[in-house]
Amino acid sequence: MLGTRLSGVAVSPGRASGPVVRVAEPLGEPPRTPAPADPAADAARIAPAAAAVARRLEELAGSAEGEAADILFTTAAMANDPGLVAEAERLVTVEGVPAPRAVHEAADGFARSLAAAGGYLAERVRDIQDVRDRIVAELLGVEPPGVPELASPSVLVARDLAPADTAGLDPAKVLALVTEQGGPTSHTAILARALGIPAVVAVRGLLACEAEALVVDGDTGVVEPADPRGPVVAADRRAAAEWNGVGATADGRRVRILGNVGSVADARAAAEAGAEGIGLFRTEFCYLDAPSEPSVTEQRAAYAAVLAPFAGKPVVVRTLDAGADKPLAFLAPEPEPNPALGVRGVRVAFARPEVLDRQLEAIAAAAAESGAEVSVMAPMVATAAEAAWFAERARAAGIARAGVMIEVPAAALAAREILEVADFVSVGTNDLAQYTFAADRQLGAVAALNDPWQPALLRLLALVGEAARDAGKPAGVCGEAAADPRLARVLTGLGMTSLSMTAAAIRPVGATLATATFADCEAEARRALGSGA
Ligand code: PEP
Ligand code: MG
Repeated sequence: MLGTRLSGVAVSPGRASGPVVRVAEPLGEPPRTPAPADPAADAARIAPAAAAVARRLEELAGSAEGEAADILFTTAAMANDPGLVAEAERLVTVEGVPAPRAVHEAADGFARSLAAAGGYLAERVRDIQDVRDRIVAELLGVEPPGVPELASPSVLVARDLAPADTAGLDPAKVLALVTEQGGPTSHTAILARALGIPAVVAVRGLLACEAEALVVDGDTGVVEPADPRGPVVAADRRAAAEWNGVGATADGRRVRILGNVGSVADARAAAEAGAEGIGLFRTEFCYLDAPSEPSVTEQRAAYAAVLAPFAGKPVVVRTLDAGADKPLAFLAPEPEPNPALGVRGVRVAFARPEVLDRQLEAIAAAAAESGAEVSVMAPMVATAAEAAWFAERARAAGIARAGVMIEVPAAALAAREILEVADFVSVGTNDLAQYTFAADRQLGAVAALNDPWQPALLRLLALVGEAARDAGKPAGVCGEAAADPRLARVLTGLGMTSLSMTAAAIRPVGATLATATFADCEAEARRALGSGA
């Protein structure tokens, strides 16, 4: 008997097994007191700790390749920086600050100077913070925080992961991802699916499980201890389904099958999978680590690169959706007690319209450069007045089509009025479920409520579908609901005219839709709407 079988919510398909690597918990700020009894001796610990960190990073760089190796060598050089060590030693000997705190403060001083310098140097702030945390961990004798560099394919186990950490995972090294917290529509889950990494979230008891190896089933949510001497098995990522590449029901009703993207790699993967266009370009994913607002020129280049594989095809670019679980440093709000209900999405643009205008200018330029048929849409719209405000600014920037996301229950209820001022709507079922059920999309304990099959959620979608049909305008779904092949038929029956999803789901959804007539889809929708709210 190897240990207890655990289970959670399956969020990214595939079955894999292999050795476990645990993601260490964040360290927090080391305390400034008590002062060291022997400051000279405490200060003398700093240089060897920094050297040990640099040595370990150099070893990792030696076994890495290309860009990863360059980054690790640069980070190792930062750990070896004599200026950093000297300032930390000064803080211990002159100001009586304990060594871990002294390293923290010295590194933060450097980080502030880098941030003030802007440009390339400012982008190194995250690196110096990483070095800081590694040296502090070395001094405290604990594991450094964050996702460790993996020497060989492993199963990553964490309490939760930030979207920025997940985005940096190497699918060749991460066999599977398992977290104790998180929900099926958290951005970490979305990124795992986009990377094709099997993932299970909300696994109770995971952190207490001491297994050295795990079998992870991203289809059923079962996580089981495995023999550490057993085989390392990666998920089979080959797309199984046959599909002719045209999104339609068996009797020819068109439903465009589109890709959700956040990077050039995602756009290429969507194009290779056969996406007919992009239904959701999450522009904020380009800037999760950006310390300051990117210039119009930088944004234009970033967007044009993502649009390039879709020249001549429809692409919906969503303006920055900052806030809650996707904070952007340059659009940080005042501290809020409840960020998911605070100034996020389009609400940030009401306070900072010049940032939206610069982004719209960059999107219009990228559209012209790439030749894609570009529309824009706003996240987190709550009323028709907000939709009108956004559409007017988008048109003033020279963008022909302006739509809005339906992610707030009020917007679903006002879909008719919204469609009087917007050219299309796209339902973000991840947030719409979160706000309909008052259930945090990141919280494992309420993951069952965030199930997109819930009839109450589908009833809101039915209202949107009817409003779009009566207005003669398109209505899509770009939340994770669209990536479930069976649910895709229900959404079609509710009147949706496009479905947008991660690349891995495109062929299975296209193939499943092609086997049902529109009448079948309507019948499935009726059954799903009625199945006991
Ligand atoms: C959604 O909320 O369903 C959506 C597509 O937007 P995001 O997941 O980026 O919040
Ligand atoms: Mg959303």
